[in-house]
Amino acid sequence: MQTTNSQRLYEAASEIIPGGVNSPARAWGSVGGDPLFFTSGTGSKITDVDGNTYIDYVCSWGPLILGHSHPAVVEAAQAATRSGASFGAPTEYEVEAAGLVVGAVPSIEMVRFVNSGTEASMSAMRLARAATDRDMILKFDGGYHGHDDALLVRAGSGLASQGIADSAGVNSKLAADTLVAPYNDLAAVEKIFAAYRERLACVIIEPIGGNMGVVPADRDFLQGLRRITRDDGCLLIFDEVISGFRAAYGGAQEVYGIEPDITCLGKTIGGGFPVGAYGGSKELMSHVAPLGAMYQAGTLSGNPVAMAAGAATMRELAKPGVYEELARKTERLADGLRGVFAELEVPFTINQVCGMLTVFFGVEEVTDMDSASKNDREMFSRFFHSMLENGVYLPPSPFEAWFVSLAHGDEDIDATVEAARRSL
Ligand SMILES: *Cc1c(COP(=O)(O)O)cnc(C)c1O
Repeated sequence: MQTTNSQRLYEAASEIIPGGVNSPARAWGSVGGDPLFFTSGTGSKITDVDGNTYIDYVCSWGPLILGHSHPAVVEAAQAATRSGASFGAPTEYEVEAAGLVVGAVPSIEMVRFVNSGTEASMSAMRLARAATDRDMILKFDGGYHGHDDALLVRAGSGLASQGIADSAGVNSKLAADTLVAPYNDLAAVEKIFAAYRERLACVIIEPIGGNMGVVPADRDFLQGLRRITRDDGCLLIFDEVISGFRAAYGGAQEVYGIEPDITCLGKTIGGGFPVGAYGGSKELMSHVAPLGAMYQAGTLSGNPVAMAAGAATMRELAKPGVYEELARKTERLADGLRGVFAELEVPFTINQVCGMLTVFFGVEEVTDMDSASKNDREMFSRFFHSMLENGVYLPPSPFEAWFVSLAHGDEDIDATVEAARRSL
């Protein structure tokens, strides 16, 4: 495998961009080696600057649920761009995209678009503080909600792989108002509520964890959270930046039948363009300016190109049978891998939901950050590089979700399983 062009670009990038990347998850710190640079993607495949082609399971970390360069998304984005990339004034695209979100996500009656998942969770938290007049928040170990100060505490994935539990430069006073409990541990949550009753503005959780690898919440645990928060007058925030429009059309809240007070969205709803959103009941969202006193703004929020691409994506996802098909593909991949690992007697567990999975080597069960951390990272690094040689591009960390798109055909999935066999 030739990677000289990637090498050259990486060296040039490293001189003028920190670490050569614009997001640390793109660096290969946890698997070793230098990141590849890409030129194009079509369907399930991506091509690097040296002309190597791979079956892609990063899919831009989730947004590309339809695969790369889906014709409907390309067309929508091109048409919107031709009409003017941004106005700083409302457009019809925003009304359509908002209508699709409200129509899909059970707990959302009103939605505000922002530019990233980070902004979505940051704003959701501010809304919770505004609505409750309280300051403290509770998050879970291994839960990532973007890089806002108050949320960069025990935040999984990129941070987990780098072995830093926290970030330098975080305002310690803000971080001090953030409490952390183990994922899937209701008893721990009950203890925290007993100690901090009527001081917690919100509990924020990924209802299907995606940033310590895929770790779905237990139904009882989520139901317990709903009950405890409601009893205390504390708001429940589902961060569905990954699970929204992926685990189901209505996200994890549809899967579990549990409605949060506020939902964060991102990734998938932009079809590959920068976007985020937060929403909830009309009553709650009326705290947001200009209706209410909670200020939140954005020069490029609801950008027409992102809204058009996002709406095109959501329209495709609304078609009948789409999620059955995505679940079937995910199942085929997970089952294929399980077969190979079992046959070759490799210790592993695979966590999966519709549209994403994580292979954890060397562990029997993963239900929280602690158990995820016990995975065999050395094994994953070797597997990652070997899969690359065999034409499969996996997320470069054992703490990430592998994203399956609707463009992954059975032949891609079977080739991936075969690549896994050769790699092992
Ligand atoms: C990716 C992610 C975010 C942050 O989104 P950005 O667009 O990267 O700012 C927030 N929450 C979750 C659950 C995510 O996976």
